[in-house]
Amino acid sequence: MYSPTRQEPLHVAIIGAGIAGVSVALGLQARGVSYTIYERAPGFREIGAGIGFSPNAEHAMRSLNPDMFAAYRRVANPNGEDYFQWVDGYETNELIFKLHVGKDSFLGGLRSTFLDEWSQLIPSSAVQFDKHLDTITKPAPDSPSDKLLIHFTDGTTAAADAIVGCDGIRSRVRQLILPEPPVRPGYTQKFCFRALAPMPAAVAALGYARTSTRFMYNGPGAHLITYPVANSSLLNILAVLSDPSPSWPHPHHTAAGSKSEVTAAFAEWCGAARAIVGLLPDSDGGKMDKWGIFDLAADPVPQYHGGRVCVAGDAAHATGPHLGAGAGMGIEDALVLGALLAEANKRWTGVEKDSDGKGRLVEKALEVYNDVRYLRTQEVIHSTRKACDLFHWRDPDVARDPEGFGKEITELFYEIWKYDVDGMVERAVAKFVETAL
Ligand SMILES: Cc1cc2nc3c(=O)[nH]c(=O)nc-3n(C[C@H](O)[C@H](O)[C@H](O)COP(=O)(O)OP(=O)(O)OC[C@H]3O[C@@H](n4cnc5c(N)ncnc54)[C@H](O)[C@@H]3O)c2cc1C
Repeated sequence: MYSPTRQEPLHVAIIGAGIAGVSVALGLQARGVSYTIYERAPGFREIGAGIGFSPNAEHAMRSLNPDMFAAYRRVANPNGEDYFQWVDGYETNELIFKLHVGKDSFLGGLRSTFLDEWSQLIPSSAVQFDKHLDTITKPAPDSPSDKLLIHFTDGTTAAADAIVGCDGIRSRVRQLILPEPPVRPGYTQKFCFRALAPMPAAVAALGYARTSTRFMYNGPGAHLITYPVANSSLLNILAVLSDPSPSWPHPHHTAAGSKSEVTAAFAEWCGAARAIVGLLPDSDGGKMDKWGIFDLAADPVPQYHGGRVCVAGDAAHATGPHLGAGAGMGIEDALVLGALLAEANKRWTGVEKDSDGKGRLVEKALEVYNDVRYLRTQEVIHSTRKACDLFHWRDPDVARDPEGFGKEITELFYEIWKYDVDGMVERAVAKFVETAL
């Protein structure tokens, strides 16, 4: 009986091993699609303190890879209450509004802990460190392989059928797939300080109720957010300040700052806000890094794909942190990419060897990825800016009015949280099946 030889399976290269890259990898792995991650750093690493995963992100993570979700649940910090709560941090220290996050949802934890757990799910043979992407080229016309070639700054190359750029806000992959001029991240006129305080000191300063769950303290031109991490042994603190200056004067997104700068900014605020600032570290003369907050609102990425290459996570749609949604968007991207590339792989490996069309299948998958993800992720960038205006009392009457604030903030968060993640994947796969070869 005639038995045709089937095509070699697709191989995907992922550039960058942050949350988006690891998510894309774990999504492909769960669907049996071959991949390699290339990361410029010498190992998995996450800079910064805590992070929280919103309900939509949790849902996407569970569908993406159940082992990834189980690891998240294992190390995430439980919340004392299933509410996100906002306080007038400037005048009264009273609760303005609380929003239900869902049962045992929107959990926080240390970035490094999450990444450690997830990276253990990735075989060491599937990741290469110290690989800094330089450029991508098409195969030579006389090449026996139709794979794309990835060139690294150390002079080595790798080959892949599809490339997913998860290389962050200053993405090189994005530069390579978009026409000139390059998209430039814009300064949002906000900067922040991040710290972890020992929980006993935090409880002594603020009480148990205010430290066992997620709280935000709002006021003119600034806000503070706190939530427990590391099995409630630490309180994660993020202080965000508005900056009248239109540009960030430092060469890098992080710059030298100090606790005294934060203390001065919150000097007129109520006692609880000042107590949180008091928890920031005094070591090294109170020196602290400050982080400029950049996004891609003013100079949006026009599309997330070019041929057989695409961008995901912050490389595509970097947003401010104010709705706690950036990493979650990367996980949603990974879910759609996983479903589409698995479908492309299934179709490709089902056809006879020497058939043509692998490139088109991948291109089609990435086109559909762009169509399904573009508006959703662009909207989050703008909602995030709006939310920060509310937190910083741009309109003090609305910001301090439980009804007005509650209505606006509920809409902004629910637009993100209540998204039909499964419907998105179904739509994407149906569109791909309908239009692919
Ligand atoms: C203060 C703050 C708080 C936040 N809080 C939250 C939150 O609570 N919840 C939430 O969902 N989001 C939050 N976010 C957003 C979230 O942190 C980001 O959206 C997310 O970490 C982006 O992940 P990424 O993998 O896309 O990019 P990155 O984390 O930037 O990873 C990019 C990776 O690519 C590698 N790389 C770059 N260039 C190359 C190259 N040329 N070759 C090879 N490798 C390369 C880098 O080394 C890096 O490892 C917050 C952001 C900030 C700033």
